[in-house]
Amino acid sequence: MSAAPEHDDANAPDALREGRMKLVFALRSRGVTDARVLDAIERTPRELFLDRAFRDRALEDVALPIACGQTISQPSIVGLMTQALEVTPRCKVLEVGCGSGYQAAVLARLARRVYTIERHRPLARRARALLERELDLHNVTVIAGDGASGLPAQAPFDRIILTCAAEDTPSELLAQLRVGGVMVLPVGQSDEIQQLIRIRRTPEGLDYQDLAPVRFVPLLEGMAEDPDEG
Ligand code: SAH
Repeated sequence: MSAAPEHDDANAPDALREGRMKLVFALRSRGVTDARVLDAIERTPRELFLDRAFRDRALEDVALPIACGQTISQPSIVGLMTQALEVTPRCKVLEVGCGSGYQAAVLARLARRVYTIERHRPLARRARALLERELDLHNVTVIAGDGASGLPAQAPFDRIILTCAAEDTPSELLAQLRVGGVMVLPVGQSDEIQQLIRIRRTPEGLDYQDLAPVRFVPLLEGMAEDPDEG
């Protein structure tokens, strides 16, 4: 059985509809109020991005494990980061840390074009298939690679988002942000807690703003060594 790409709420079972309403309530109460962002999240079935064992928890506002020892972010954090990124339909967006592809799917509903980079090949492969074939999102490109150096061939970007934590803002990424652009990322030396920040590039320079304490897996250099899938 496979879920339909777009959910028709009128036909959704009561439990599913109730679960979705609860999630939107949780997002609002955590400060996600932008109607376009809430709509993009509502239209993105999170269960598709989870392994079977976790699917019944898809509508809970918690981070959950995905393959390769990584995690899919908490929906309210996806909401807050997407809102902070101020994505418009004209934006070309770069994401570092594709993981399951969930954040990329939400961005793809708001932006003109999304490039997302993942250092685990099996995750990149799975996300690509899901976004293109199951969700029919044709404005997302998934790249298996090291996102720490960004994507110079497609730079500059209007928006850059990191969904893994850097010790400091990676200068190569910052150099790929257009004037007028916005970058949102977790930074910090600790594995336990980092600070979510927003950087704006203005004609005069860079503006930094602290947003919230968060916890993400670290930004690691190079491609991951994953066992052959056979
Ligand atoms: N945005 C994801 C959350 C993924 S967790 C989602 O919606 O599911 C962060 C991801 O960043 C992990 O999959 C990890 O492998 C990846 N990552 C860490 N360092 C990276 C790097 N240098 N380049 C690309 N991806 C990286």
